[in-house]
Amino acid sequence: MSNSKPMPLETAISAPFWQSLKDGVVRIQHCQDCQGWVFYPRNHCSHCLSDQLEWTEVSGEATLYSFTIARVPTMSEFESDKPQVLAVVKLKEGVQINTTIVGLDESQITVGMALKPVFEQVDAEGTTLLQFTGKEADFDRLEYKNPLADLAKNDQGQVQISIDNSAAVSALPSFGFTPWSNEITVDQTLINDFAKLSGDDYWLHTDPERAKKESPFGSTIAHGALVQVLQSRFDLALPYEITGFKTMVNYGSDRLRFPAPVPVGSNLHARSRVKSALNTHKGLQLTLEVTTHVVGNERPSVINELVILYR
Ligand SMILES: [Zn+2]
Repeated sequence: MSNSKPMPLETAISAPFWQSLKDGVVRIQHCQDCQGWVFYPRNHCSHCLSDQLEWTEVSGEATLYSFTIARVPTMSEFESDKPQVLAVVKLKEGVQINTTIVGLDESQITVGMALKPVFEQVDAEGTTLLQFTGKEADFDRLEYKNPLADLAKNDQGQVQISIDNSAAVSALPSFGFTPWSNEITVDQTLINDFAKLSGDDYWLHTDPERAKKESPFGSTIAHGALVQVLQSRFDLALPYEITGFKTMVNYGSDRLRFPAPVPVGSNLHARSRVKSALNTHKGLQLTLEVTTHVVGNERPSVINELVILYR
């Protein structure tokens, strides 16, 4: 995924619709029995319940049935799109589609006006949405432009993203996972130190002799909380730097799991990715997923979704 906005989830029934948008055409279902047109995509005709529906290319010519202008983002992910013209349009074939109007001044938008489709690519993977604009407009495609592409980098090569740049902020998840960090070894001394600090001296962590005989892992294992705090020792090589904020607050964790044990002597490494980045009334809320793994294990030992608040 290349941005934080909700993206269409194709199903077996709707996939032909989304695929046709990528090809720059509108296809909707046409009933072979009653000749009715059907939208949204379904298994059965909404007029006669026949299952003989055929995906058929249409021109996309439409009229504006109704619209409203959202001046406050409908979701924080749409901050960079405001104001958003939310519309119901009626295709020539008679079906109605919920969509947005693009490329028109507010004063140009009137109910009943003639519209034509605009195919907007919204991520690097080619996901395309169906928008509409005035029939006379001289464009029918909106190409994807990566909002991170033209930003300056700092001395470490990190893209500098100001918290005010909503478009860039919403593209943060597109970086994906960082490369693996440095490795650190969890030895018995470290586990013992943590047992002393935390007061958790359960034999599974601190008694190698007993653990050898009784532990399902054949040895002692590190405390989950120990592996969690070791996170600070990993160099995560984030590809971006957030700028333009006064304070940065650790807001806690959305999710913390210990899916796999860390036997004594294991080498650990970690990687991270931005899971979501939202401008909220409290500031920029960045959720950073950090996963810590025993080297060579695909299954993480810790999944921590850290929430960081910039304002
Ligand atoms: Zn029918």
